[in-house]
Amino acid sequence: MSNHRSFRGSRNRGRNTNSRGRGQRSSFDPSMLVQKATFTPNKTEYSPTHLFSDFDFHQTLHRAIEDKGYTKPTPIQDAAIEHILEGRDLIGLASTGTGKTAAFLLPLIQKVYGTENRVLIIAPTRELAVQIRAELRSFTHSMKIDSALCIGGVPLQRQIKPLKRYPHFVIGTPGRIIDLERRRELRFTDFSTIVLDEVDQMLDMGFINDMKYVISRLPKERHSLFFSATLSPKLDDIVRSFLQDPITVEIEKQTTSSNVDQDVIKIKGQSKVDVLHDLLVQDEFEKVLVFGRTKRGLNKLAKQLVHKGHAVAAIHGNKSQNQRQASLEMFKKNKIKVLLATDIASRGLDICDVSHVINFDLPGTYEDYIHRIGRTGRANKTGKALSFVD
Ligand code: AMP
Repeated sequence: MSNHRSFRGSRNRGRNTNSRGRGQRSSFDPSMLVQKATFTPNKTEYSPTHLFSDFDFHQTLHRAIEDKGYTKPTPIQDAAIEHILEGRDLIGLASTGTGKTAAFLLPLIQKVYGTENRVLIIAPTRELAVQIRAELRSFTHSMKIDSALCIGGVPLQRQIKPLKRYPHFVIGTPGRIIDLERRRELRFTDFSTIVLDEVDQMLDMGFINDMKYVISRLPKERHSLFFSATLSPKLDDIVRSFLQDPITVEIEKQTTSSNVDQDVIKIKGQSKVDVLHDLLVQDEFEKVLVFGRTKRGLNKLAKQLVHKGHAVAAIHGNKSQNQRQASLEMFKKNKIKVLLATDIASRGLDICDVSHVINFDLPGTYEDYIHRIGRTGRANKTGKALSFVD
């Protein structure tokens, strides 16, 4: 991210804060990465103003919500669902882990059910698109609602056939969606509702022109939803051209998660792989997400860790979609204990119960750091984030 925040209020507990070792390009001081968790479960209990039963959803949808075990709306769902049901354009400022996917899916399922309305959802990464599709299916398995996934890394022909069925939902990443539109397999004017998800990530990943292209070809009469963790001035053009009289719902920003214990480990000339190995053999390191900066570096690290007897997998842009998905599933199902990832590959992933996030390489910006450590300490649990510094 380009607009990294300046950070105040972090505590330097007397460690060496000489920030930048050779080869590191971080734009912040590692003393910011030391913070004790201040987790108090009762304080985080949220009282929504709505119950799911307040929303005018079809019975089958209410039952699906119940079957998923969702007892009450999360803050973003509480704030956004009624406006989306009313057909308002909306800016939802919320990041992954807040329940934002269901915040837009539930009212949109209600909107398309039994109609010919169609929804186009664009997400920055393949994994996020897959995740949105899975969540959609988990709500609609007893409803006649069809969907298609349009993401890179999968043969184009295989994605063209489902589009011929005119599915209610088309979910995809910008490159593949535009490719299909240029081949006339997909017409943007067929969609009455458009969701741009994780727009700040799309900006970071260089999709700004793709977003502008899509917006320029959408029907004038439409229902537009825009979700992003942050709203930077660089997004002004997109906001202006995409939305009409939008309502903004913002849920309380998490700075660094207060339920993540953050600390640094000084490498002091030791081998980083050895230090990592010494951590991974400890029992408390149950489910560990390790971040590296480059694909090559991660591949090398994966080999070294396997050599040392660890069950690991890596996700990054050079892996095929199937490989990335398979690695993610193994990690989610606890078949491997360690997942290695680059920032881009990890964006928006909903992985439960990560006990530790380890920054093997420091991220480029403090925003990326926040994203990374947000993978742990979720769902009322305390997590640990460790950053290797020279
Ligand atoms: P998201 O921010 O959409 O990636 O969602 C984060 C996680 O929260 C996912 O595992 C969802 O299944 C879960 N979730 C979403 N809404 C609720 C809810 N109302 N109650 C409990 N869990 C939820």
